[in-house]
Amino acid sequence: MTDLKQYRQALGQLVALPSVSCASPRLDMSNREVVDLLANWFADLGFETQVQALPGQPNKANLIATLGSGTGGLVLAGHTDTVPFDEHSWDQDPFKLTEKQDRLYGLGATDMKGFFPVILAAVKDFTSKPLKAPLTIIATADEETSMAGARALAKQHHHQAHAAVIGEPTGLKPIRMHKGIMMEAVHVRGHSGHSSDPALGNNALEAMNLVMADLLSFRQELQSQYQHPGFAVSVPTLNLGCIHGGDNPNRICGDCELQFDLRSLPGMDNQQLHADLERRLAPLAQRLNVDITLRSLFADVPAFEQAANSQLVLQCEALTGNAAVSAAFATEAPFLQQLGMETVVLGPGSIDQAHQPNEFIPLDQIAPAVTVLQQLIRHYCC
Ligand SMILES: [Zn+2]
Repeated sequence: MTDLKQYRQALGQLVALPSVSCASPRLDMSNREVVDLLANWFADLGFETQVQALPGQPNKANLIATLGSGTGGLVLAGHTDTVPFDEHSWDQDPFKLTEKQDRLYGLGATDMKGFFPVILAAVKDFTSKPLKAPLTIIATADEETSMAGARALAKQHHHQAHAAVIGEPTGLKPIRMHKGIMMEAVHVRGHSGHSSDPALGNNALEAMNLVMADLLSFRQELQSQYQHPGFAVSVPTLNLGCIHGGDNPNRICGDCELQFDLRSLPGMDNQQLHADLERRLAPLAQRLNVDITLRSLFADVPAFEQAANSQLVLQCEALTGNAAVSAAFATEAPFLQQLGMETVVLGPGSIDQAHQPNEFIPLDQIAPAVTVLQQLIRHYCC
């Protein structure tokens, strides 16, 4: 029987420690207090804990907590940061866990501080006798922005459990794939001049017009080459998101920048896509006599797919009674998978409540989530 009183108390403590990660330094916070609290809790349960600061970021850290030793076993993973919040839109203090109608409200309650007390409740039954294979808890930094925590782990190459479950809010439906994300900026530098004589300059906006046409044909090519029926939007997408250029009607536009995202399907390689884009833009630049540069606005997230017939997917489907599906959001899954582990995203709560005011986790999903984790621990570690 899951002790909901302990669950509420633990989640209340986690929610009370702000750990916003944000691309804007003004809003960005440390996650150390959350990581230290989790480290203490797991150390008290007999786990060996390691708090690892991110390279060059002493105020951000990952936690790795391990129970038992040897090879194989299971990883349970989650991120410790939250997105920023708009205080005036909340009906209660986002940092004070508030219970209403069998829901626990608070910033990060569902995405995803609420997963860690689920783990705490699940592991209590397994700490009295030695495990056959290790159980590892990973708590990462900066998932909501750069995924720097998961990237740092992927570089270390030493958490090779058989399986990893990331407890993002999926309503306890296993997620075995999502698209990759690239966010790119293309900058065209021409030459400004008086608009009365086109020969006095080289118009960056006119060049950008051709760049955009080329991006749209690239999209067309990608969509005819790649389709995946497991996704609601079954093709890769490329969205022209914003554009800035020029200043006055009577000046030839000297500079123009376009930002777009590209969402790749499993089987597509983001680095290759970036190289393809460069290869297409170079001859345009030459022909139009402008400079065209392509830069990534954020480090890309690879597409993720765990095979439908892999042991972990089948196991999660059997335990939850839900078929594994795709998600519309990106996760740290591709980075854990790079470590050689079968990886699935599966946790309590709904992504519909994430990243918005009055975020909550429904209490009725806690006990079922604890049961699923206990069965997974039994399967992989006992
Ligand atoms: Zn999340």
